[in-house]
Amino acid sequence: MVDLTFFFFLLAAIAIGWLLGRKSVKKKVRGNDQQRALARSYAQGLNYLLNERHDDAIDKFIDALEVSSETFDTHLALGNLLRKRGEHDQAIRVHQNLLARPSLARPNQQKAQLELARDYIAAGWLDRAERLLQELVENSSDLRNVSLEHLVEVYRDEREWGKAIHAVNLLHGRRFKRLSAEWAPIQAHFCCELAEEAISSKDYLSARKHIDAALGYDRNSVRANLLWGRLEYLLSRPREAIKVLQRIPRQNPDYIPEILELLITCYEAIDDESGLDRYLESLQREHPSNSVLIALTDRIEQQQNEAAAAAFMGKQLALRPSLRGLGHFIDLHIDSTQGRARENLSLLKTLIDQLIASRPHYRCSNCGFSGNQLHWLCPSCKHWDSVRSVKGVEGE
Ligand SMILES: [Zn+2]
Repeated sequence: MVDLTFFFFLLAAIAIGWLLGRKSVKKKVRGNDQQRALARSYAQGLNYLLNERHDDAIDKFIDALEVSSETFDTHLALGNLLRKRGEHDQAIRVHQNLLARPSLARPNQQKAQLELARDYIAAGWLDRAERLLQELVENSSDLRNVSLEHLVEVYRDEREWGKAIHAVNLLHGRRFKRLSAEWAPIQAHFCCELAEEAISSKDYLSARKHIDAALGYDRNSVRANLLWGRLEYLLSRPREAIKVLQRIPRQNPDYIPEILELLITCYEAIDDESGLDRYLESLQREHPSNSVLIALTDRIEQQQNEAAAAAFMGKQLALRPSLRGLGHFIDLHIDSTQGRARENLSLLKTLIDQLIASRPHYRCSNCGFSGNQLHWLCPSCKHWDSVRSVKGVEGE
């Protein structure tokens, strides 16, 4: 089906191009032959559009409309529209055509260069975008900041975290100036990325440096505290790890499920069973979630027996029904039943497990992207911290 908005825009662009071209021809008194050629190009462009041959229509537009200060904005707008429609190659052609004109005034050349860099980013040609943007940062005071913002985007997608941090600092003037509320959490994430790389290569000294830097930018960074807790545990300091991890529920209770496994391991490492029970109970009182409920139920099963754990879970399920809780509840009853009842419970448990597996565990509050893994940067809309665990009967 023809996209009518695009169709009319392109038609208007060609018509404007033709009229402006005609006007500029008249000004220069270039004779009737050239006017006729323009009219022919316009008619051909229109014909291509009507036959949905957009590539050819754009070629005709480029041919027919001389690039000048009067027509520059029309060319630029057409290229941008093509990029927004996802027609990256065609957008690149329109913007490259502008850049190929040495007669274009310098500010207009730089505007075209910025749009071309945006085309390259949209098309995934990051190295080309990077080169164009670096030139603009050096040579254009008007476009410096917007080019730096795009460079941060490019370095983020290239996973060049050090360069991304440097670009954010350039954007804010000097190195240790306080960042804006918009940029501070992003800069903290870049430091956390470096910390994760350092932890992976067992360079714990660098990891601590990057975590400190992250907390310097954003002292409420959940991710930095999670990494700090992990680092303390890896350095055989479980008590310190517990202290750090316990900050996270106060910073953002949405991330409680992310701390549980490590927190329980640390409590076990210091052999503080009652401390763990008390802490889990307080978490469940203040910020109820299925992950903590299941951890508490497991503790009761270990310390007492299945029946006590099932009684506890049954009471909790009546207050806060959930699929995961129900699956766990059935699990606790299977061993004590026999024959047909046991078969039925097993079948029910399989169905619930399938239902849970078919539902996403995480969802982005910005774009709705969902999956079964926590992403600090949404892979779909590229927002930081917008992917959280799903709440409600099917989730936490
Ligand atoms: Zn998203």
